[in-house]
Amino acid sequence: MPKANQVHIKTHNNQLVLSTIYEQGPLSRAEIVHQTHLTAPTVSDLVTPLLAVGLVEEVGFGLSKGGKRPILLQVIDDARFIIGLDLGREDFRGALINLKGKVIYHNELPLQSRTGDAALGIVYELINDLIQHSSSPLLGIGIGAPGLVDSTTGIIRRAVNVEWQDIPLAALLKERFNLPVYMANDCQVAALAEYTYHNQAAVENLVVINAGYGIGAGIIIKGQALNGVPFGAGEIGHVQVVRPGEPCQCGNTGCLETLVSTRAILQQVQALRHGAMKGSLPEVTHFDQICRLFKSGDPLVQTVVNAAGHYLGAAIANTVSVLGPSRVTLSGSLSSLGEPFLDILREEISRRCRLPTMNYVTVDISSLGPDIVLLGASAQLLSHELGINRASGTWLGWG
Ligand SMILES: [Zn+2]
Repeated sequence: MPKANQVHIKTHNNQLVLSTIYEQGPLSRAEIVHQTHLTAPTVSDLVTPLLAVGLVEEVGFGLSKGGKRPILLQVIDDARFIIGLDLGREDFRGALINLKGKVIYHNELPLQSRTGDAALGIVYELINDLIQHSSSPLLGIGIGAPGLVDSTTGIIRRAVNVEWQDIPLAALLKERFNLPVYMANDCQVAALAEYTYHNQAAVENLVVINAGYGIGAGIIIKGQALNGVPFGAGEIGHVQVVRPGEPCQCGNTGCLETLVSTRAILQQVQALRHGAMKGSLPEVTHFDQICRLFKSGDPLVQTVVNAAGHYLGAAIANTVSVLGPSRVTLSGSLSSLGEPFLDILREEISRRCRLPTMNYVTVDISSLGPDIVLLGASAQLLSHELGINRASGTWLGWG
């Protein structure tokens, strides 16, 4: 099993040099001097340990400007792998991710309604498997966890889906695996992924609506994550939207999640199909089937998804009117419903917010697909351990 190499990229200048090479490499030491405004001897001193720990490599020669041709430097993509975990789903997912956000290996283990210590056991099993498959030294473990997550202490305050209350998950994993561990709410790390890996210019004011097994919003305002007190910002899934409504796992009734989550949509479709055709229609057991039926125009599924879209659109409208983001991005399983579902959301937001709000906000689907939480989870390590924030070169106010 590869052990974590000694990497201490903690000083500002260290991080500046490494992130400059990461963003702009391959480039020469002289170009780093030019970009960072550090002196040539300082850059040389800072590059040497990066070469020694194998984070950076020399990759040939650049063009000469009169003297010797300069040696070019670049970050080695696979120099370290990061373990990313997405615990906000029915299946716990994990992946080995390289320094450029490429998924090298992934695995998922079904939760099968297990909670408490049994659910914790699945986390251990998943990490053991990932460690065994890693061919590079590990930088650490990044986690996107459901519910109220205190990212400063690594304690999950409350995650109703798995019945975790005050679980010091980061400390447990740090002790067990001897690796740095960073953790935040799954929706917040989805926002971090979108901020870090989105292929266009970073949007300073961004809301990511992560809608699947649970529903939540990850919020970035002026490039800073908004956690709230006590880490509950964006918990739109547990706001009551109908009274009394169906019971919710949080103990309340009529929460947004009881109407809009993949579970809720599946249950509603199943009930209606049973009722409408006296059980003669084929069983719908997975959300992928819902997506296919929605796109093929199945009237019953369209009715349920339309209603869900209007409830979610109303929640987004409230979020938009309070925060004024320039971009709202949908991620999670519901994003597989595609553009027609976005149109339902846009219509509802527009109806509730009125002009001119809709002229300033883009509503779209994340391009990062089902790996968004894994990527965001790993991006925490890039930021905290190496000082690399790919989108803006500045630190996120994380944790
Ligand atoms: Zn609830």
